[in-house]
Amino acid sequence: MPNSLIIAIDGPSGAGKSSVSRAVATELGLDYLDTGSMYRAMTWFMQNSGVDISNSQLVAQTARAEVIQPSIDPSEPGIRVDGRDVSIEIRSAEVTQGVSAVSAVPEVRELMVNLQREIAANSSTGIVVEGRDICAVVLPDAPVRLFITADPQARANRRAKENGSEVTQTQSDLEKRDLADSTRAVSPLEVAPGARVIDTTYMELTDVIAQVIDIARAARG
Ligand code: C5P
Repeated sequence: MPNSLIIAIDGPSGAGKSSVSRAVATELGLDYLDTGSMYRAMTWFMQNSGVDISNSQLVAQTARAEVIQPSIDPSEPGIRVDGRDVSIEIRSAEVTQGVSAVSAVPEVRELMVNLQREIAANSSTGIVVEGRDICAVVLPDAPVRLFITADPQARANRRAKENGSEVTQTQSDLEKRDLADSTRAVSPLEVAPGARVIDTTYMELTDVIAQVIDIARAARG
C-alpha cells in the first residue's frame, strides 16, 4: 500500500461507518481516524468545563485543538482530552445530545478540520478517515471517497441493538441528529460531489467491508 492511500468515508450515524472503517483499516494496515469522536470529545470538554454549549460564542472562545488527542490505531480506537481517556464518557446521552450544537460552531470545525488534515498528512501508512464532511471538506483529494448510508429504520435497529436501547426512541433521536447535522450552515452532512454511495440497508457488514476493500485495492492500482 503506498504511503498516500487515503480513504474518506462519510455518512449518517448507524450506517455502519465505524465498523467498516476500522475493519478496512485493519485489513489494509492503515491508520484510522474517527472524527465524530473528536467532536464528541470537544463536547465533553465543554460540558466538563461548565460551558453553556447553547452559547456558541462561548464555545468558540473555549475551543482548543491541542486538548483533543485521538488514537489512530484501528485495534485500539479511543480518545483523550488533555491526557484523560474519555472514550467511554463521549458515548453518554449528554454528549450525544450536545454534540450537534458544538459541531455546528464554525471555530470548532476549523480547529478540528485542521487537526484532522495534520493527522492524515503525518500518517506514514495511509489512513481511513470517517465522519460527515471528510469527502467534501477535510480531504477532498482523497483517492477513495465514499458515503455509507442506510435507511433510518435499519440504522435505528442497529444502534438499538448495539446500545440495548429502545428502537422507536433511538430512531427519533437519530433522525433529530441527522436533521441538525444536515441543515447546519457550515459543512452540512451531504453526499459530496463525486463520492460513491454505498447503501447498506440490505447488506451484511462483511459484504460492505469486502466491497470497500475492493474499491481501495482498485484505487491503489
Ligand atoms: O459519528 P458520530 O455519530 O460519533 O458523530 C457525532 C457528531 O459529531 C455528529 O452527529 C456530528 O454532529 C458531528 N460530526 C461532524 N463532522 C464530522 C464527524 C462528526 O460534525 N466529520
